[in-house]
Amino acid sequence: MPELPEVEVLRCNLEPLLVGKRISDFQVLKPRVVRPESPQQLENGVAGCSIKGVGRKGKFLWLDLAKVRSRKTFHLTIHLGMTGRLFVQDSGDPLPGHTAAVLGLGWKRLVFRDPRSFGRVTLETDSLDQLGVDALSDEFLVERLRDALASTRQAVKVRLMDQRHIAGLGNIYVCEALHLARVSPFEAASKLPLGKVKALHQAIRNTLQKQVELGLKLKLDFAGEGKSDGLFYFGSASTQTPQSRERFRVYGREGEACPTCGSKIVRAEQSKRGTFFCPQCQQRE
Ligand SMILES: [Zn+2]
Repeated sequence: MPELPEVEVLRCNLEPLLVGKRISDFQVLKPRVVRPESPQQLENGVAGCSIKGVGRKGKFLWLDLAKVRSRKTFHLTIHLGMTGRLFVQDSGDPLPGHTAAVLGLGWKRLVFRDPRSFGRVTLETDSLDQLGVDALSDEFLVERLRDALASTRQAVKVRLMDQRHIAGLGNIYVCEALHLARVSPFEAASKLPLGKVKALHQAIRNTLQKQVELGLKLKLDFAGEGKSDGLFYFGSASTQTPQSRERFRVYGREGEACPTCGSKIVRAEQSKRGTFFCPQCQQRE
């Protein structure tokens, strides 16, 4: 599932291709991804609009749209779900299988392909309104992390994945950041000492920033068929070379050596998700 870095890399790639373009039409091939509007309502809402920008918060992406001769912009929000892909292709090319929705842009079109139909396209901003602070934004300060952790009895990893408090982290980058900060995923969030909260804040920022930088350096194949969850899945074809492969510290590396101490990395179930950690480096307080 794409997390903040993957969506940010996608945003950076789409922006120059989309800004300034005018939407000629909107086709829905999988009505389930459009909600709560009807496909017709959505088409009426966006046809004829121009694209002013491409935004992101957490794992959500949106297009800033404006009607002709209007300065007021509004969001067309897209959530990629588990395996959704978003890419620009020539209007003459055949549509790929599992295409969920298509924005016509004259000679080009923006294709939203969603094999599992967990994605969503909407003009409503309810999902965005419910998000907490974006983990890559300037508003994500140590104090925000401290407050998010202090007000719960949950384990730190579970809290970090709750998008209503901090938006953008999923299973992969939470595991990575916790290892970098030497914090146990099972630690009670509210028991984390301030020093560890600071280390964790720094680790979250570093992990996400580095990953975005890596993704922006790669030539990615956004329409590709990559299936590996956990890789830079938008561009899995080009991540198969050793130079560009994502190198996770602990995620997906059960039984391998911890990059810090050499102990074996362990996988455990936590809230029905696989949690990867080093039992030596990440001990509870
Ligand atoms: Zn270790």
